[in-house]
Amino acid sequence: MDFEVPEKVKVITGMMDEFVEKELIPLEPEFLRRPFREMLPVIEEKRNLVRRMELWAPNHPVEYGGMGLGLVEHGFVSESLGRTPLGHFVFGCHAPDAGNIEILYLHGTPEQKERYLRPLVAGKIRSCFSMTEVEMPGSNPVMMDTSAVKDGDDYVIDGQKWYSSAADGAAFAIVMAVTDPDAPPYMQASMIIVPTDTPGFNLVRNIPVMGHAGEDYASHAEILYQSCRVPRQNLLGREGYGFVIAQERLGPGRIHHCMRWIGICKRVFDLMCSRASRRIMSPDGRTLATKQIIQSWIAECAAEIQAARLMTLNAAWKIDTLGTKAARYDISFIKFYVAGVLQKVVDRALQVHGGMGMTDDTIIAYYYRHERAARIYDGTDEVHKMSVARKILKDYEGRTVR
Ligand SMILES: Cc1cc2nc3c(=O)[nH]c(=O)nc-3n(C[C@H](O)[C@H](O)[C@H](O)COP(=O)(O)OP(=O)(O)OC[C@H]3O[C@@H](n4cnc5c(N)ncnc54)[C@H](O)[C@@H]3O)c2cc1C
Repeated sequence: MDFEVPEKVKVITGMMDEFVEKELIPLEPEFLRRPFREMLPVIEEKRNLVRRMELWAPNHPVEYGGMGLGLVEHGFVSESLGRTPLGHFVFGCHAPDAGNIEILYLHGTPEQKERYLRPLVAGKIRSCFSMTEVEMPGSNPVMMDTSAVKDGDDYVIDGQKWYSSAADGAAFAIVMAVTDPDAPPYMQASMIIVPTDTPGFNLVRNIPVMGHAGEDYASHAEILYQSCRVPRQNLLGREGYGFVIAQERLGPGRIHHCMRWIGICKRVFDLMCSRASRRIMSPDGRTLATKQIIQSWIAECAAEIQAARLMTLNAAWKIDTLGTKAARYDISFIKFYVAGVLQKVVDRALQVHGGMGMTDDTIIAYYYRHERAARIYDGTDEVHKMSVARKILKDYEGRTVR
């Protein structure tokens, strides 16, 4: 039995699948060739089409112009849109804005919501999330150098961040900074909204990642905060609650990523099967698909994609019904398991394409370059495995099993 897709979602994803096929996949060769900024006018045209179809911002609150879908519902959407690198951006549900929208909605003041949340959901501005530091381990984020010191009515922020994705061209950053170094470790940091035109917000560079520095939305920046002064009203949520809010942001965010990765898996799986069925390997006309090793890869990939999909939908259902805390370990499972499946499926699809797999004549090499990071961001594989194993082993403490 398959996970039941709600009727309402079937209609939505049906329209999205068609849009992805007709409007976005044909744009990919240009997207792979041209700088992202040059693509923006045509991307904006597509976004306007999406707005007219009333499919804009599927996961965001209705009162701010989104469709208000729940997590399981948006999971299916994320799977559909994951079939192309342009999907989430064109439909207004892309990271890191999606996560920032969630926390602004939950913790923003009325003024913050009007100034930042409303235009962000509308896609009029972009944002970034600035937490990871060059000199400190992101895997243990309580080790943080960036400070926000109170001075009169302001916070003054100093620190060096990197991997602030999409900072280039963003209107504001949500910055994690230590506001009380004497508090218990998980209460030391706060989230602060920093408009990117604030003096002392210095975008040093877009970091070259896998050979590409990228630009605009498609980039990851290093940022130096130097005596960067913002009013205290820019505190997001309560002081000292930065990690608590970050955890809230990460639960649903991981579902979105995992379902997007399933969409990628399905796309490259289609490419792999199609190539194997067409590529003639011997004079008698036998194709790559007749080789047992390729059949074995195809069967394994199909099974693993299905397992990853059902695991993710189960975790989404648990968050929707029981809350993020109850689903903590399910979220860790999917984060490392689905990222691993993604890497394996993309790698096999590339291998089946031989030399062509290494070129940008298909989308596979793009995914190979950009999605390796899936095992690193939003919690590295090792950290998630450790926390799951610790929980499992706790049940065995002092217990002999026969
Ligand atoms: C493409 C991309 C986009 C990103 N976007 C953002 C963003 O928008 N905003 C942001 O703030 N950050 C972002 N990040 C940063 C990301 O969150 C960090 O890279 C991640 O948290 C890991 O931190 P680190 O790089 O400091 O690695 P480290 O903490 O130095 O870890 C290095 C390696 O050590 C291993 N390791 C860690 N802990 C353990 C352990 N307990 N046991 C055994 N091995 C361990 C892991 O293999 C890990 O990969 C992004 C990263 C990438 C690659």
